Amino acid sequence: MRIILLGPPGAGKGTQAGYISKNFNIKKISTGNLVRSHIKENTELGKIANEYYIKGDLVPDKIPTNMVKEWILNQTDSKWLLDGFPRNINQAESLNNILSSVNSNINTVLFINVDTKLLIERLLNRQSIENRSDDNLETIKNRISIYEKETSPLIGFYNDKKLLYKINGNKPIKSVYQEIENYLKKKCRIY
Ligand code: ADP
Repeated sequence: MRIILLGPPGAGKGTQAGYISKNFNIKKISTGNLVRSHIKENTELGKIANEYYIKGDLVPDKIPTNMVKEWILNQTDSKWLLDGFPRNINQAESLNNILSSVNSNINTVLFINVDTKLLIERLLNRQSIENRSDDNLETIKNRISIYEKETSPLIGFYNDKKLLYKINGNKPIKSVYQEIENYLKKKCRIY
């Protein structure tokens, strides 16, 4: 089972990725977490990424694409989950190329949909808890507008490939997870 988690910033992708990974025993990669650890360790890559990250812009495609490529090519298991990648059509096409080079594919794209007003509330709330440098109102608004412009076309992209499954992410964390789990259990019978 190879899964992509898609959704706006604040949709709860990271949280759900954690539950899915644990309960279904599958490996996951979060490009956001990787970018943050490079920034924290002040690596060359982190220095470049930070200029984009603090504004809430996407970092240049080749940074997350190389991270994901290296990770996928090193997976010995055929079950995994991508959180935060792809984030635009260019990244999705690179992912297709990476996967076809190893005769692999995606089985499902879980799209966690949340109303914009609720997203802003959640992200501002997270700011007071986690203190992420990209969780301030100005940056949040930019991330949401970039999501709408760059990332939301992936909804149609994967829907056309019959891979998209839409989940109502406005509900509490546990209910959202329950919906995901029910769906994945049905899917697991196939894959
Ligand atoms: P959120 O979904 O809340 O925005 P993430 O932790 O997934 O949080 O991502 C935080 C930031 O990391 C993004 O705003 C962007 O700057 C960078 N980033 C993460 N993944 C990607 C990606 N696939 N492409 C470009 N930038 C990315």
